[in-house]
Amino acid sequence: MSSTPLRTGTPVPLAGPTVLIGTPVVPGVVLGPVVRPSGAVQLPDGDSAEVPAADRGAEKDRFVAAASVVADRLAARAAAATGVSAEVLSTTAGLARDRGLLSAVEQRIDAGSSAAVSAVAAAEQFVGLFTSLGGLMAERVTDVRDIRDRIVAELTGQGEPGVPTPDAPSVLLADDLAPADTAGLDPARIIALATRLGGATSHTAIIARQLGLPCVVGVGGLADVPAGALVLVDGEQGTVTVDPEPAAAQQRVAAAQAAAAALAGYRGPGTTQDGHPVQVLANVQDGPGARAAAAAQAEGVGLLRTELAFFGRTQEPSVEEQAQIYAAVFDAFPGAKVVLRTLDAGSDKPLAFATPPDEANPALGVRGLRVARRDPGLLTRQLDAVAQAARATASAPWVMAPMVSTVAEAAEFAALVRERGLVPGVMVEVPSVALLADRFLEHLDFLSIGTNDLSQYTFAADRLSAELADLTDPWQPALLALVQAAAAAGQRAGKPVGVCGEAAADPLLACVLVGLGISSLSCAASSVAGVGARLATVDLATCQRAAEVALAADDPQAARAAVRAVLAG
Ligand code: PEP
Ligand code: MG
Repeated sequence: MSSTPLRTGTPVPLAGPTVLIGTPVVPGVVLGPVVRPSGAVQLPDGDSAEVPAADRGAEKDRFVAAASVVADRLAARAAAATGVSAEVLSTTAGLARDRGLLSAVEQRIDAGSSAAVSAVAAAEQFVGLFTSLGGLMAERVTDVRDIRDRIVAELTGQGEPGVPTPDAPSVLLADDLAPADTAGLDPARIIALATRLGGATSHTAIIARQLGLPCVVGVGGLADVPAGALVLVDGEQGTVTVDPEPAAAQQRVAAAQAAAAALAGYRGPGTTQDGHPVQVLANVQDGPGARAAAAAQAEGVGLLRTELAFFGRTQEPSVEEQAQIYAAVFDAFPGAKVVLRTLDAGSDKPLAFATPPDEANPALGVRGLRVARRDPGLLTRQLDAVAQAARATASAPWVMAPMVSTVAEAAEFAALVRERGLVPGVMVEVPSVALLADRFLEHLDFLSIGTNDLSQYTFAADRLSAELADLTDPWQPALLALVQAAAAAGQRAGKPVGVCGEAAADPLLACVLVGLGISSLSCAASSVAGVGARLATVDLATCQRAAEVALAADDPQAARAAVRAVLAG
């Protein structure tokens, strides 16, 4: 296509198609019209005319009707969704039917306010209450405001706020997407995502990966692309082409579809073209997820995020309940490798029964393995549950701890794991572990690199910050140097070192990681075939050359370009 790539953030109108560049997240090429989340709902101002006493009954009925339209709409979407998406949607639907909200609104209508003004005032009352309660209650403030906006939009005839549900398959462009926006996405109508903000570990990226939607984030110039414009999104190159030349665009879509069809034939096990084995595993959170991963040709589980099964719980789950959940995952992969991670509570994944409240800086606080300093029983009971599940399913799971930073912590953890006949390892999420990987491996049987947190702690940049996404880009050469240090230690010790952060989901970067000496890759089930099929097209020596040029590059963009050149080569 005759178009000119631009540097991120410097869009310039061109005579032909304009190519905007961002961070590629989920591969796939898609052509479609742009839709955008609708703008902010216009809230009524508080001093509108008083509703006459005779009309107040009808005004209450109007509120009830609007609230129930909103609740029914969200409940219908919840019924069609699964997992976390379904939970988010049905919680929001429940709020629209909340009796406390209804009676606060009715009181205001009785005093002469309109239904819309009353809805705004009543919502503000709950926002104040939840904010003063703090903790998990304070997190409901966003939900209350969301429901307020939906009801007011319904009452005042403004379109439904949030992500639209277009009739024709469309590409969603946004600044950034909130959990409630993405929870209801219908992949039949929204066929690709591109955001102005966000990085490879942003919320948008994680949801896009789960849904298998082509996705590019951190795209400069996206704000200027109007709704209705035709765009070509390339999730492997990381580009959004505005007004592409139709014939060339169709060709690229067709080529991508042919490549996707080839992926459907991926059966594993993962190897390079010349037969060097690389396990391609899946990141899962429960039994159903593990069964889906097995169907997607994952060779096993490289990361079972146990904390995700217990979100929203205020009490520690019993050993028996935990054992049942873990056994369901082990059962999905009989005789295969399953790596379970002990609770990674805290920071971006708080658990009410484990996370200390009110820490000034939770990402650097008592999270992951550090929770056991305060409550050692939480860890030992979890390990008992893992051992029980292993016995019940005759499996031999590997068990690793998150957020480890010293050799002493690793040695103590390994002893607890071995006492129970299990295989111990730790995650490499803090640079200290990569730097002393040889000494850690004296106590452990494996390491698994969590590139999401390793980049956060290497670059002192919040992994969830959209503004700092360029720093936490997994192609950063300094991050790759730490991966190389850990992988080399593994090779010296003859012990496996895998990657289970989002870096492992990028087929191009997967080749680099293998070249750095990584022995297994673990990613979302929807990425397994793409990674496995890509590895099968390159030999180990090419992966090693790709690793060399990526390490030598000055920044992520240069690293990607250099690696593409080597692999095209
Ligand atoms: C990581 O940090 O890379 C990782 C895999 O763990 P999580 O994303 O669950 O923190
Ligand atoms: Mg982590």
